[in-house]
Amino acid sequence: AKRDTGTSHRYFSSHFAQAGGRQLQLEAELRDALRKGELELHFQPRVLINGRGVAGVECLLRWNHPVRGRVAPDEFIPAAERSGLIVPIGYWVIEQACMRLREAAVLGYSELVFAVNLSFRQFHDRRMTDTMFRIIYNANIDTRLLELELTESAMMHDPDYAQRCLRELHSLGLSFALDDFGTGFSSLSHLQNLPISLVKIDKSFVQRVESDEDAQHIVSAIISLSHSLRKKVVAEGVETAGQLAFLSALKCDQIQGYYYARPMPWADLLDYLEGPHRI
Ligand code: C2E
Ligand code: CA
Ligand code: CA
Ligand code: CA
Repeated sequence: AKRDTGTSHRYFSSHFAQAGGRQLQLEAELRDALRKGELELHFQPRVLINGRGVAGVECLLRWNHPVRGRVAPDEFIPAAERSGLIVPIGYWVIEQACMRLREAAVLGYSELVFAVNLSFRQFHDRRMTDTMFRIIYNANIDTRLLELELTESAMMHDPDYAQRCLRELHSLGLSFALDDFGTGFSSLSHLQNLPISLVKIDKSFVQRVESDEDAQHIVSAIISLSHSLRKKVVAEGVETAGQLAFLSALKCDQIQGYYYARPMPWADLLDYLEGPHRI
């Protein structure tokens, strides 16, 4: 029950969606959330296929609202993007992730990758790479272990600028994953032109592979395409042994999903890493 933290989201979608006024209130509260320390990172293991250890963790933002309870990211991230608050929040996330990365290294997990989500809106901050550089430099981390997950929409607004940002960050040692692959504005040119080393298959495909032949073909095609371009593949949202077996047969590299572990607070992650999944 201790690791059951991912389920306790309370969904306020309908509540917040009722009127624009509610939206504004949410944004105002979110502005305070950062200052009041209501934001928290949870960590979900990415397990090597066949359960041979944890390759990394995805850092996922949680908002513990004093009255509303746990607000789901799908609810407040869009508000943070609309208001631009995702920029300071995004830097806070990177700082926290770097701090945990350092801590993990001290504890001997010196190969554990920390993956952080980057929103398209963060690219609108023209000082992004400088600020990231400063944070990473101050945190004194092994930059090889920091991975940024971005969706293709991040590259849409200004592809040349996004490409420059990625190359600068890549030159610092950071790596990149293409998130939610296949769902948005997919362009295969991203796989070719950007320094992407990993592709994440969205859970909307993964969760249909047992029942839907088309989903099987899509997943199979994403894996073989990615592998032929020398990129690793992570399947997100794996919940059942059947899904795992399917992905395993296709030589998917890593599994992230409730089948292994839910996103969990830092202290629980440390317990988890000490368990049978010890690297
Ligand atoms: P995402 O990047 O696609 O993250 C994966 C989501 O799938 C997470 O939802 C995770 O908890 C969930 N998930 C993982 N395994 C399973 C499974 O087996 N079954 C099911 N049903 N779900 C699974 P979460 O944590 O609610 O986050 C939702 C979205 O919010 C993320 O989707 C991401 O787009 C965004 N997000 C979260 N944290 C951050 C952040 O720090 N910055 C930004 N920009 N976005 C974030
Ligand atoms: Ca992600
Ligand atoms: Ca997403
Ligand atoms: Ca996803």
